[in-house]
Amino acid sequence: MSALPLSTLLLNLHNAASAAGRPDPLLLAVSKTQPASAVAALAAQGQRAFGENYVQEAVAKIEQLVTLGLEWHLIGHLQSNKAELAARNFDWVQSVDRAKLVAALAAHRPADRDALNVLIQVNIDDEGSKHGCTPEQVPALAALIAEQPRLRLRGLMAIPAPWPEAERRVQAFERMRGLFDALAVRYPQVDTLSMGMSADYAEAIAHGATMVRVGSALFGARH
Ligand SMILES: *Cc1c(COP(=O)(O)O)cnc(C)c1O
Repeated sequence: MSALPLSTLLLNLHNAASAAGRPDPLLLAVSKTQPASAVAALAAQGQRAFGENYVQEAVAKIEQLVTLGLEWHLIGHLQSNKAELAARNFDWVQSVDRAKLVAALAAHRPADRDALNVLIQVNIDDEGSKHGCTPEQVPALAALIAEQPRLRLRGLMAIPAPWPEAERRVQAFERMRGLFDALAVRYPQVDTLSMGMSADYAEAIAHGATMVRVGSALFGARH
């Protein structure tokens, strides 16, 4: 996939949202495998939020770019033995999918930083190969997160299967939106539904994404 200028991508997001009568979603620029210089170039154009998959790779960039005051989101699977490093360095963790991780993140969030923003990752298409909790596990996990003062429950994240049939993709997005709406009724601070990537962001926005995670459409193919 070739890269779009940031302004063009933002216009695409705006058009998809306004066609659906929805507010503009937030753009998370997915910078995994990209050098810190590519992040800095996008930051110079006004992009603030960046997503990374691998904790160590991200921490190196976060440290290099600390003076830019960017917002860093972990979107990759988090192993429990990396929870401390993640809790110390990220602003958001979008891949929380089990109770053990909730406890580890809460225990290690430094007292001098704001509460860590957390999304629950849902394996919405029940794919054996994917991380994420089941839809049925969301309420119990949400309750655990909500009782931790060092964590702030903000919503849900999903990576739906890339079904060739549009109808199946749409059904997954709509199931996520249903789960999200139910969660937002229970927890007033819940405001984020993270779904949609380079190939399907317009569809995800039409079905209620409030944040899209875009990598290759912004940076070009990953090296
Ligand atoms: C890599 C990745 C993205 C971005 O994917 P693109 O297809 O390059 O836009 C989004 N979300 C997650 C969880 C990813 O791992």
